[in-house]
Amino acid sequence: MSPSDPPLPLEPYRIKAVEMLHRPSRDEREAALKRAGYNLFNLTSEEVYIDLLTDSGTSAMSDRQWAAMMTGDESYAGSRNFAEFERTVQELTGFPFVIPAHQGRAAEHLLLSSLARPGQKVPNNMHFDTTQAHVLRQGAQPINLAIQEAYDVRNEHPFKGNMDTPKLETLLQKEGSGVPLVMMTLTNNTGGGQPASLSNLREVSRICRAHKVPFYLDMCRWAENAYFIHEREPGMGERSLREIGRACFDLADGATMSAKKDGLVNIGGFIATRDAQLVPRLKETLITFEGFPTYGGLARRDLSAMAIGLLEATELDYMAHRVGQVRYLASLLEQDGIPFVRPPGGHGLYLDAHAFLPHLKGSELPGQALVVEIYREGAVRTCEVGGVMFGGAPSTPDAPPALELVRLAIPRRVYTASHLSYVADTVRRVWKRREAVRGMTIVEAPERLRHFLAKFGPAMERGGAKGAGPHAAPHPSDRSPSPM
Ligand SMILES: *Cc1c(COP(=O)(O)O)cnc(C)c1O
Repeated sequence: MSPSDPPLPLEPYRIKAVEMLHRPSRDEREAALKRAGYNLFNLTSEEVYIDLLTDSGTSAMSDRQWAAMMTGDESYAGSRNFAEFERTVQELTGFPFVIPAHQGRAAEHLLLSSLARPGQKVPNNMHFDTTQAHVLRQGAQPINLAIQEAYDVRNEHPFKGNMDTPKLETLLQKEGSGVPLVMMTLTNNTGGGQPASLSNLREVSRICRAHKVPFYLDMCRWAENAYFIHEREPGMGERSLREIGRACFDLADGATMSAKKDGLVNIGGFIATRDAQLVPRLKETLITFEGFPTYGGLARRDLSAMAIGLLEATELDYMAHRVGQVRYLASLLEQDGIPFVRPPGGHGLYLDAHAFLPHLKGSELPGQALVVEIYREGAVRTCEVGGVMFGGAPSTPDAPPALELVRLAIPRRVYTASHLSYVADTVRRVWKRREAVRGMTIVEAPERLRHFLAKFGPAMERGGAKGAGPHAAPHPSDRSPSPM
């Protein structure tokens, strides 16, 4: 460590079980890319050294969670694990009705199929991909109403996940009953893991109540959001993450949750609400698609792991380390001037692919090109959040310029600071040869959620760029047996 090195994020845990990793060779990486159709969702995990594709369901569970997994009461109905889970969610959120589901999108399915109708509009600060797909599936239109600063990657606004409340007010005045619900995503994943402030949530809640429109939170990363409020919102520094979380929930009518995020489990989710009249409709869909209301598509032991994970995610030491890891990675990349969404978000760092590869047009899919190069360079898997993920959907009228991002999502309690420093080194090496990086093109794609299934190929060579292929120099550790 030299004095200029960024502070290490200190782990508030020690490692009790390990999983061995393989770092594929250059030839293996090249072959894997071809086989996968240049879509990193098609890679096998053996082909990946550091997996930053997502922070969803990739957490390491604690010893307490594993211990609870051994106490599953696997009764079909009325399991005691459900009672424990229900009580925990009720206490954390204040919502009286709690319905488990196998993951977040299942909760979205329950909510949106019950509330949204064809031709209606569903506002959100920014729709996550699966939320957007469920709105579209009902024949409704997703409307993104994040504040303007959210679209400016360099803007340091502390709450870029905020909703543009004047725009929301105008929409509700104009559409009346054409808006079945308003949603807010905490944190705004699509916009860089950016938080919304308590005061913004308060204003959105006030507007929704005035127009008698239900207000639902996508609470996937509610504990991270609470941490940013704790750090950045005046008067909040003395309040615990649980208190802040509760203050947010008090403003809403209900929430959908993917417990694969701030529930610290590998699978699980739920929907919670105050609306007693909605519950029978939710349960009917639940039983058709997920299972009985005391298990919702999960093993009962999963419910206990989820209950413990939800509480662990609100511990301040845990969260300071988690957000600290993202900031550590950010400060390593900052030393080379590598462009990323500012300020760094809660669950990952989002590279600005337009600024990283300015010689590529949007149609040459700079985000996808960068994802491929980072894998090619160091077997680090990341995720495009840009033209490929969102380009297939109808856009919001007068939408601001699209973001073209590459997300380096940090799984919870999984990687060490040396892993992160390897990732930074890999990205830096791509940065040094960025001018030679070529664009990508879509070879085949389904209609919806195409990023999961599409196949890609290198874009046609342009005049002058001939032969300027992505010739990565060998990584120093390619020459010797892997030191890690
Ligand atoms: C992950 C996620 C979802 C969907 O949850 P799954 O568990 O993946 O189905 C919804 N919204 C946001 C913001 C998410 O990050």
